[in-house]
Amino acid sequence: MYSNNILKINIFTLLILLVILLIMFVAVGCNKPQEPVLDPEDNNIDDLEDFENSQLLIEPVVCPLCGELVEKRLIEGKRPIAVMIDNHPSARPQSGLSEADLVYEIPFEGGITRFFAVYLHNDDATEIGPVRSARHNCLDLVLEYNAIYVYYGGSPQAWDQIEKLKIEGMNGIYDCVTFYRYPGRKEPHDKYTNIERINITARNKGFDKKTGKRKFSFNEEDMVPNGESAEFISIKYPVKYTVMYKYDPTAGNYLRNINEEPHLDAVSETQIRTKNIIIQFVNFKVIDSEGRLDIMMVGKGKGFYISNGSITEIKWEKDSRSSATRFIGKDDKEINLNPGKTWIHLVSSNTKVSYE
Ligand SMILES: [Zn+2]
Repeated sequence: MYSNNILKINIFTLLILLVILLIMFVAVGCNKPQEPVLDPEDNNIDDLEDFENSQLLIEPVVCPLCGELVEKRLIEGKRPIAVMIDNHPSARPQSGLSEADLVYEIPFEGGITRFFAVYLHNDDATEIGPVRSARHNCLDLVLEYNAIYVYYGGSPQAWDQIEKLKIEGMNGIYDCVTFYRYPGRKEPHDKYTNIERINITARNKGFDKKTGKRKFSFNEEDMVPNGESAEFISIKYPVKYTVMYKYDPTAGNYLRNINEEPHLDAVSETQIRTKNIIIQFVNFKVIDSEGRLDIMMVGKGKGFYISNGSITEIKWEKDSRSSATRFIGKDDKEINLNPGKTWIHLVSSNTKVSYE
């Protein structure tokens, strides 16, 4: 009887210790760097090897998102990856914005903005971040691009809709493998990822490998939009963020500034550049006590297309959450972009946009 009690106590103590150890492991799990491992059961590996060995797949093709020639293997069977990137002053300089095919700058509550950066063939984006939380507005773009959505936490509206819409993605709150903490950066501006990690997780999760359906039309040769000269463009987002672009005629693209300082990419340590800028005027509505916004991306509105030192008025139309936004020129036809990177700015109609 006596020894049986001792045994019971010991088992009980052992169980408590195990629970404590488990809690400690979960609590510190994300602080430990973990390397992603491709599931060995993944039968796509052979397909991938065949795929990479094929000579046909190194033929150059036009990227549907940036219009540049890339090896076919880099976009064949790929879905765009969309990452939510922080734009708090403590988050700058961010990593990986220069590598994205397209970047949306989107107003968030409190007058701040965040980036929705879209990657299709940029496997060499070895560092992307800081990654921040999802918003339901951004799902209009996730659906439009059929993108894998990469984020760290989210608003209640986003959590609800991500589940209902069965959005394929990865949330850093539950994932210490795809995401890692960047040493020396302070919370919450310290969650990073990269394309290799995202691709491994997407394969391990068995995500659909449908090719991204979103496609822009591109000029075969660089064109100057038929409009006014625009060598400086200023977008006054509320509160803290004034974006200014300055045209570099030698490179034929725009250098990005934020609050009159060059906006740098932390990886390349160079100023962010873009070939094309689209300004899309949209209506907003505050929907909760936190000041979160509903942004009307479905519908129609006005905007500007800017490239090669010139600006032209455009219209935009989007029929449903999953349909592509059409940017329409003065001739009522969809505009062709110049090949290169594009930054798309969602702005309210009372945001001051000026150019000279
Ligand atoms: Zn591209």
